[in-house]
Amino acid sequence: MTTSPQAADHADQDRPGAASNKRVLLAKPRGYCAGVDRAVITVEKALETYGPPVYVRKEIVHNKHVVETLRERGVIFVEETDEVPEGALVVFSAHGVSPAVHEEAERRSLRTIDATCPLVTKVHKEVNRFAREDYDILLIGHEGHEEVEGTSGEAPDRVQLVDKPEDVDKVTVRDPSKVVWLSQTTLSVDETMERVDQLKGRFPDLQAPPSDDICYATSNRQVAVKAMASECDLVLVVGSQNSSNSKRLVEVALQAGATDSHLIDYAEQIDESWLDGVTTVGVTSGASVPDVLVMQVLDFLAERGWGDVEEVTTANEKIAFALPPELRKDLRDNPNGPKGVR
Ligand code: SF4
Repeated sequence: MTTSPQAADHADQDRPGAASNKRVLLAKPRGYCAGVDRAVITVEKALETYGPPVYVRKEIVHNKHVVETLRERGVIFVEETDEVPEGALVVFSAHGVSPAVHEEAERRSLRTIDATCPLVTKVHKEVNRFAREDYDILLIGHEGHEEVEGTSGEAPDRVQLVDKPEDVDKVTVRDPSKVVWLSQTTLSVDETMERVDQLKGRFPDLQAPPSDDICYATSNRQVAVKAMASECDLVLVVGSQNSSNSKRLVEVALQAGATDSHLIDYAEQIDESWLDGVTTVGVTSGASVPDVLVMQVLDFLAERGWGDVEEVTTANEKIAFALPPELRKDLRDNPNGPKGVR
C-alpha cells in the first residue's frame, strides 16, 4: 500500500476530520483506461476537425458525465446508423460494432470513424479466427451489452452467449473437441473463471482464448479494490449504471470483504445514511470515469470528516493507444490539441 503525491496533496489540505480515525482508501488504478481515453479524444478531435454536429452511435463510453459534456459540445448520440443523415460523419463507440453495422453505414454513404477499443477488436479477431477454423465459440458475457452484440455479430452462426450459470446447460455444440470460450472484456475475473469451470465440466476439451480477453484495465481495477475492500466499511464506486466494469467493482468489493458498497454517478448521489458508523471509506471508479468526479467525491467526504486520504496502489498503468487511422490522417492538417473531458 502506498500513498501517492496526488493523494497526499489532497490529504494535506486543511480538511475537517483530518485528525480523527476516519479515513479514505483511494484505489489506484481507477478511472479512465486507454480505450476510453482514445474514444473520448477521438470524438473531441472530430468536433474540432470537422465541426459539429458529429454523430456517435450509442454512448461513446458508458458514463453520463462524459456523454452529457460531449452532447453540449455538439455531439448527437443515436442508437442506430439509420438515424444519421446520408453522407454525415458517425463515430462508432469504444464497445465495438458488428460487420453488419459497418455494411449499413457504407450503404448509406456515411463517413465513419471507428473508436472501438483495440482490446475489443482483438476479441473480434479471435472470433473470426475460431469461426474460420470451424469451432463453436462460447462467449461469456452479459446479454444485451453492446460489446457482446458487436462481438457475436462477427460470426452469429458460430457464437453462443453464456451469461448466467444456467446458460451453461443450454449450450449445444457440434463437436465437443472443437469448442473455445472467449469473453467480454469487462467481466469479473473470478466469476468468469467460475463459468469456465462449469463449461469444462460439460466440455473437457474446451480451449481457452489465446490471451486474456478480460482487459488489463478491468482486471487491474478489480485487483486494486480487492486489496483495500476488507479494510472498508463502505466502498463507493464512481461509475454509471450501464457501465459493466463499474458494476463489477461493486460486486468485487463486497465479495472481498467490504461491509457495504454503492455505485454512484456523482457525489450528490451519496446517501448520508450510508456513512453512519463508518470509519474507513474506500473510493474507486470505473474505466469510463474522469477523475474530476472522484475528486468531487473526496471533497464531499472531506466536508463530513473523511479528510485523510491514503492511496492504495496495486499497479501503474502506462498503456496508450493511437487514435483511429481515419482520423489521424485528417489531423495532420489540423493539429490542434483536444480540450479533454477530464
Ligand atoms: S475497459 Fe478495457 S476493453 Fe474497455 S475500453 Fe477500456 S481498455 Fe478497452
